[in-house]
Amino acid sequence: MIKLIKKLSEAHGVPGGEDEIRNIITKELEGICEISSDVMGNLVAKRGEGGKKIMLAAHMDEIGLMVRHIDESGFIKFITLGGFFDQTLLNQPVVVHTKFGRIPGVIGSKPPHLMEEKERDKVVKAKDMFIDVGAGDSEAAKKLGVTVGDYITFDMPFKELKSGLISGKSFDNRLGCAVMIEVMKKVKTNHTVVAVGTVQEEIGLKGARTSAYTLEPDVALALDVAPAGDFPGTKPEESRIKLGGGPVITVADGRGRGIITHPSVRDSLIAAADEGKIQYQLEVGDGGTTDATAIQLTRGGVLSGVVSVPTRYIHTPVEVAGKKDVEDTVKLVVAYIEGL
Ligand code: ZN
Repeated sequence: MIKLIKKLSEAHGVPGGEDEIRNIITKELEGICEISSDVMGNLVAKRGEGGKKIMLAAHMDEIGLMVRHIDESGFIKFITLGGFFDQTLLNQPVVVHTKFGRIPGVIGSKPPHLMEEKERDKVVKAKDMFIDVGAGDSEAAKKLGVTVGDYITFDMPFKELKSGLISGKSFDNRLGCAVMIEVMKKVKTNHTVVAVGTVQEEIGLKGARTSAYTLEPDVALALDVAPAGDFPGTKPEESRIKLGGGPVITVADGRGRGIITHPSVRDSLIAAADEGKIQYQLEVGDGGTTDATAIQLTRGGVLSGVVSVPTRYIHTPVEVAGKKDVEDTVKLVVAYIEGL
């Protein structure tokens, strides 16, 4: 599974440009599932026929950037796609996805040598940042293929840390994608399971909304990552989620403006964890939300829940998670489906 996670993490797929991820998932599930995609680009992988229809949703997109302007010196100005803390962007290596292929770049900044005292205390905003691809001028940038609207992603290799931890970019939500793939390979049920690699989650849960409408599932689980808070400077009341604590079952997120998980789904997930002796963590989230929020509100409403892999430093290029938590998330989702 580590090989799969590495491949998914190092692949690139910003909102609306998820092709590479869709291809990886398709290759993994070919022969096991009936695979199709829809007009939005959602990947739909169906296993079985009859019984209840269970939808699994893992968003394929990652937060990224888009070229909005190339200045006369060839520097690229960009917009952000998804929720960034601007400070995490500064001085990152990036990949610009041009019509002629991928070119490397860096998000440059003024060195401390050139800063005035008060500049050192200021957060540089994304709108003031620029990307240097070494073009020299706008004509050269054009020759490299750089065009307004090109996608830009983080360029960060996957790493294994000590104690079974892993680090990389886009764990949100390639870990969810990896869990979904493994569940589809392992689950044994008489129900119909439909795995959906959703598009454009990071900019408004868009693919989940349209795919759930088409599928009309009886029950749906979003598979995602949950923000762990087990590091210096974060209090337990901000996030009690920790690495090594097992899969996260969401009770509510987005301060209730996201999902309030239907009690039947929440309780069945907890029962499946208890029966399978899988350690789990309950989440009441303050900030973000997941695809389940859009799915729950589809048509007359869908029984929906969220199972997540606890992850540190979400929405940075150095997200950190635990291998055992990923494996246990797979186990929990399989146990839940098999118990339905
Ligand atoms: Zn996510």
